[in-house]
Amino acid sequence: MYRSHTCGELRSSHINQEVTLAGWVQKVRDKGFMIWVDVRDRYGITQLIFDEERTPADVFEKAKSLGREFVIQVKGDVIERESKNKNIATGDIEILVKDLTILNSAKLPPFTIEDETDGGEDLRMKYRYLDIRRNPVKNSLMFRHSVAMQVRNYLSEQGFIEVETPYLIKSTPEGARDFVVPSRMNEGQFYALPQSPQTFKQLLMVGGMDKYFQIVKCFRDEDLRADRQPEFTQIDCELAFVEQEDILNIFEGLTRHLLKEIRGLEIEKFPRMTYADAMKKYGNDKPDIRFGMEFGELNEVAQHKDFKVFNDAELVVGIAVPEAASYTRKEIDGLIDWVKRPQVGALGMVYVKCNEDGSYKSSVDKFYDQEDLAKWAAATGAKAGDLICILSGNTNKVRAQLSALRMEIATRLGLRKPNEFAPLWVVDFPLLEWDEETERYHAMHHPFTSPKPEDFAKLETAPGDVRANAYDLVLNGNEIGGGSIRIHDKDLQSRMFSLLGFTPEEAEAQFGFLMNAFQYGAPPHGGLAFGFDRLVAILGGQETIRDFIAFPKNNAGRDVMIDAPAAIDDEQLDELHIKLNL
Ligand code: ASP
Repeated sequence: MYRSHTCGELRSSHINQEVTLAGWVQKVRDKGFMIWVDVRDRYGITQLIFDEERTPADVFEKAKSLGREFVIQVKGDVIERESKNKNIATGDIEILVKDLTILNSAKLPPFTIEDETDGGEDLRMKYRYLDIRRNPVKNSLMFRHSVAMQVRNYLSEQGFIEVETPYLIKSTPEGARDFVVPSRMNEGQFYALPQSPQTFKQLLMVGGMDKYFQIVKCFRDEDLRADRQPEFTQIDCELAFVEQEDILNIFEGLTRHLLKEIRGLEIEKFPRMTYADAMKKYGNDKPDIRFGMEFGELNEVAQHKDFKVFNDAELVVGIAVPEAASYTRKEIDGLIDWVKRPQVGALGMVYVKCNEDGSYKSSVDKFYDQEDLAKWAAATGAKAGDLICILSGNTNKVRAQLSALRMEIATRLGLRKPNEFAPLWVVDFPLLEWDEETERYHAMHHPFTSPKPEDFAKLETAPGDVRANAYDLVLNGNEIGGGSIRIHDKDLQSRMFSLLGFTPEEAEAQFGFLMNAFQYGAPPHGGLAFGFDRLVAILGGQETIRDFIAFPKNNAGRDVMIDAPAAIDDEQLDELHIKLNL
C-alpha cells in the first residue's frame, strides 16, 4: 500500500494516527535540527516534519537529500501543528516522519510548480506534464471533467445515448479544410478526419437511434486565430422526430442545468433573437447582451444635411457609451485610432458629447445643429453624460466595425463580467451566404440545413433571402452551440446541392452515401453541437480554452511537448506511395 491517505485529507481529527502518504516534494525548509517538507499530490498538500531528536537518524539524513519534485513515500504520526495555516485544508496538522522512501528523484524543474509560476507560456507548454501539477491547470482539468459528467448525466437522463463514430472518414460538410490521413492499404487514397460527426449522426437517425450524443474530438485545418485549436471537442447531438422548438427546449434545459450545477445560477427562459435583429442591434450574430450599448441607426436623422460622408453611406449607425461625455480629446482620439486600426478598418469616427446640461458638442457641429444631435441621442438611447460614437459606410462592414468597438469599450469599462451569464438563442439564420471570392453561394451552416418551408419558393428566385431552420446558442458574446433541422428529403437535398454549385456527380461522390440512406426511410431530424472547450472556459469564468485542455497546441498548430508534427522516414513514405514536393 503506497498510501493510507491523500495529501489533502488529514485534519485534526486524525491526530495520533499513524499514516502513510505519497507525493511530490513541493518545498524543503532545512533549519539544521529540524526539516520541514511540503508534500503534494492531486488532492492537496501536507506538511511533514523531520526532527533531529524524534526522527530516526538515517531517516533524518535522507531527508537532507530531498530536492524539489522528488517523489517520496513517508510513514509517520499525525500531530497538531504549533503555528496553524488557515490557508490550506490540512493546515491544522503535520506529520512527524518515522520512515522515508525516495520513490524517485527529480531533475530541478524548469519553472516553479506553484500557483504563481515563473515559467512563461512556451516553457510551460513544453513541460506541460509539470504544468499540470500546478493547481490552476489541475483544477481546470478537474472542472472540465465535472462539466463533462454533468452533460453525460443530463443527456443520459433525457434518453440520449452516447455512440462513438469513426475518425477515419471522408470529408464532412462544415466547409473548413480537412486534415487527411493517407491509407497504406488503399494506395493513393486518403481518409479525412471529421470536422464533426455530422453525416454519421444523421445516419444514426436513419438507423433509428432517435436521440444521440457524443463528447467527441473534431478536426479542422484552419489558420489558428486567437484561441482556436486544430483539434477540439464538441458535445455533438442529434434527434429524430423533432422540430426546432423541441431542440431549443432540450438544449436550453441542458445549459440551464449546467449553469445551475456548475455555477449555482438559476436562469430564466433564454431570450430569442432573430439573426436579422442581432445584426441590426449588435452588428453581430453572437451578441454579448450582458450590457447595453445597442446600435441606433441614424440614416433618417443624419442624411439630410451637407455632410457627404454620411450622405454617401449605406448605413450611419451609433452607440451611446455610458458616462463617457467627459472623455478628453486624447481619450477620444484613442478610440478613433482604435477603430482605424487595420484589424477594424473604419475610416474615421464621428462623436457627440451629451453634456450634463442637456446640450451637445459634436465633431460635426459644422453640419448639424442641437436639434439634429438630440435626434441622434434619442435614436441611440444616449442620456446626459454619454458619448455617442458613430460610424458609417457599407452596412455589413460598418456593423462589424461598430460591433468591435462596442466590445472593446465594454471590455475597457469592465462591463464584460466573467461571473455574469447572459445566454440567448439566435434563430432564423440565412440559409446561404454569398462569397465574393468564389462568386457563389455557400451554406451558412452546412448543406444539410433545411430552409424554412415558407421560404421554399424563394430558393431559386431570391436565394439570399431564404431563412434556415438554424439556430445558435450564444453565451456572453460567444457562439457556444449551433445546429439546424436537417433536410431529410432526397429531392430537396439535391436542389440544395445544385444551389451550392455542386454538379450531381460531385454531390454523389462526396455525399452519395447519405443520399442513398435517405432513400430507405429517413425520419425528420435535427441537432446541434456545442463547442465543449469554449463552454467549459466560459463556465469557468475564463476566456482561453487552452487552459482547459490537457495538451493543447500552439498558434502554429504544434505540440511543442512531443514536437509534432514531424517528418516521417522515407520507408514510411514509400509504404504510403507518397513523394514529397517541398
Ligand atoms: N455539425 C455542426 C457543426 O459542427 C453542428 C450541427 O449542425 O449539429 O457546426
